[in-house]
Amino acid sequence: MSDRPTTVCPLCGVGCRLEAGDGSRARGVPGPANPEGRLCAKGVGAFDVGDDRLTEPQVRRDGRLRPVSWETALNRAAAALTDVLAAAGPDGLAFLGAPHCTNEENYLLQKIARLLGTNNVDNRARLCHVSAARTLAERLGWPATTNGLADIGEADVIIVAGANPAERQPIAFNSFVRPAVRDGTTLVHVDPVGNETTRLADYHVAPRPGLDATVFDLLSARLLADGDGIDRAFVADRTRGFDGFRNSMAEYDQTRAAAAADVDGGQSASAGAGETDVPNEDNTVARVADELAAADAIAAMVGTGIEGGTADASAALLDLLLLTGSVGRPGTGLFILRGLANEQGAVDAGSVPDRLPGHQPVADPVARDRVASEWGVTPPSTPGKNARELLAAFGEEVQGALVVGENPAISKREQEWLQRRLDGLDALVAVDIMPNGTTEHADVVLPAAAGVEKSGSRTNLERRVQRFPRAATPPGDARSDRTILSALGTRLTGDQAAFDYDGPAGVFDELTRVAPTHAGVTYADLGAGGRQWPFDADGVLYRRSFDTDDGLAPFGTVRPVPEIDSAETLSLVTGGRASEFADDASATPVLRLSTADAVERGISSGDEVVVTNGATELVVTARVDEETRTGTVYLPAIVADPLLRRSSSTVRVHPS
Ligand code: SF4
Repeated sequence: MSDRPTTVCPLCGVGCRLEAGDGSRARGVPGPANPEGRLCAKGVGAFDVGDDRLTEPQVRRDGRLRPVSWETALNRAAAALTDVLAAAGPDGLAFLGAPHCTNEENYLLQKIARLLGTNNVDNRARLCHVSAARTLAERLGWPATTNGLADIGEADVIIVAGANPAERQPIAFNSFVRPAVRDGTTLVHVDPVGNETTRLADYHVAPRPGLDATVFDLLSARLLADGDGIDRAFVADRTRGFDGFRNSMAEYDQTRAAAAADVDGGQSASAGAGETDVPNEDNTVARVADELAAADAIAAMVGTGIEGGTADASAALLDLLLLTGSVGRPGTGLFILRGLANEQGAVDAGSVPDRLPGHQPVADPVARDRVASEWGVTPPSTPGKNARELLAAFGEEVQGALVVGENPAISKREQEWLQRRLDGLDALVAVDIMPNGTTEHADVVLPAAAGVEKSGSRTNLERRVQRFPRAATPPGDARSDRTILSALGTRLTGDQAAFDYDGPAGVFDELTRVAPTHAGVTYADLGAGGRQWPFDADGVLYRRSFDTDDGLAPFGTVRPVPEIDSAETLSLVTGGRASEFADDASATPVLRLSTADAVERGISSGDEVVVTNGATELVVTARVDEETRTGTVYLPAIVADPLLRRSSSTVRVHPS
C-alpha cells in the first residue's frame, strides 16, 4: 500500500480519490465514487497544474504589478477594500468565489462578506443547474441529488436527460450506470443530439431543443391514460395536488405535444443510421412509456442541457418520478450531474447572495440567530446581488471586489464590457493559481495553491463530503485560499479570533454548527470515504417524508404544449466534449448538422459554412451526421460562445 497522501480529484463533481503516481501522473485510489480506483484521462492529469503559475504576491505600482512580501500584499489588499467599505458601505463590496474551491474556502469567503455587512457573495455554481436545484428545493426540500451513486444499480430504468455522463462524468458512468445496463437496466437518453451516452442507451429520444419538458409530460400523459405504472399508494400517501395534475393531463393533447417536440419520429438507439426498424405505431416514446410502466424503480440524471428550455424540464421530470413512486428508495430519485468539483459544496457553504450556510434563507430570523450565536454578529437580512448583477454594478454601486479562483473577464461575448467594469473598480483583489484576464486588472494579486496542493473537503454530486490532505507542494510562495482568506478576514474585520482556526477541521466544524444540513458530525467523523449529508440519513433522501411544510411532495402544474415557430432558423445546441477540441488550436471548428438540413442548404461534410445569429458570424467546417436531429445544429460551447445571446440560440447556416 502506498504511503502517499490520498486526495480527491479537483476536476469534476464525481469526486474520485487519487494520489501522485509516476512523474506528473495521478494514480487512482478506490473510493466511493471510483470503487475500482479508476481515473479518467482528465483525472490522470490532476497533478499537472501547468507551468504558468503565480508564485509570489504582487501589488500594482505605477500601473504595473510588482512582487512584494505576503505581509505587504495582504495589508494593501485589506486597506484598499477597507477604503471602499468606508466610502461606499458594505454593499459597495463584491465577493466572488469559485465552485472548485473547498467547502472551507467558500465558507470563509461568505463569512468575511457577511461579517462586513453584505450578502454580495456569489459563485457560478449557483447558475449551473439552477432550475433542477430550485425544483428539488421547492418541491422536495433540498437543492441536491436525492440518492447515492452506489444505489443506481437497483434502478430498472435510468433516464439521462440533457447530459453526456459517458464523457463528462466518465468514472461515475462507467462505475455505476454501465454495469447496471449490463445487468439489465434500461437506459433512456433524452437529448436533441446523440453522443457517447447514446451509444449505450436502449432508447434515444431526441426532442427539439428546449422541449425536454414536453417529452416528460407526454410520458406522464401516456402513463395516466393507460393507467399502468402509477404508484397509487405513493401518490396517495406522499404527494399532494395529484387530482389537478391528473385532470390537466386528461386534456393534454398528446398528438400535438408529440408533433411539437417532434418525437414521434424517434428511433431506437440500436437502429443504425437511417434505419427505420421501429414501426410508427410503436414509436420510441410509446415504448419508453411501456418500460416505465413495467419498472419498479426509475432513476433520472440531468445535466445543464435541460436548463433554460421553453418550460421547466426538471419540474416535468419530477412529476413523472412522483407519479411512478420513484423517489425515496434506492434505485430511484433525481441526480444532478454537476460538472465542477465542488459545485454542490460551494452553495451548501453559503457562498451565494440569498442563502446562509446550509441553504437557510438570509431573511429567516431563526437562521440568522443561529449564525449570530456562532459569529457574534448577525448577518444582513436582505439578499445581495448575484454575480451577474455585481459585474454590472462594478464601477458604480460596487467599487471593490475580492475575486477568489474565478475569472469574470473570461467571457468572449462581452469581453470589452467586462474589462471596462473591472477597470472601473477602486479596489480589485484577485486570488488565483495563474495569471488571467482578471489578475491583469487587479490592484493586488495573491498566488494560490492548486486543488491537489491543499487540504480541506469537497462535496461531490451525490452530496458526499470528502476530506483530503495536501498531496503536492505549491510552487514558490503560493498559499491555500483558506490561509489567504483567514489572513484577509482578520485584517478586514479586525477580529482575529473569528479567523483563528485549527486548519480546515476548525472551519468545517464551525460550518456544521451553523448549517443544519451538516449538523452532527465533525471533520474527523468524515473518515476516509466521506459521508453524504444530511449525516443522520443513509444516503437516500426522503425515505419517510419530504422536507416540506406538510411532509408531502406537490405535483406541478402541467405545462402548455408549446407553439413551434417553423421558420428556417436552426436551433443551436452547445456542449463541451473534450474530443471536439483539436490539438491544433488554429484548426477550423466543426459544426454538426443533419443530412436533411445539409441537403436543403446545399452543404456537404467538409464544406466551410457561415453560422450567424444576425449580429455575429462564425466560419466553421460542416460535418453532416445522423446523430444530429433535423432543425438543430451543434457546436462546442467554447466555439459557440460569441453566438449565444441571453434570449436566443437560433442561427442560420449557409455555405461561405
Ligand atoms: Fe476526476 Fe471527474 Fe475524472 Fe473522476 S471522473 S478522475 S473526478 S475528472
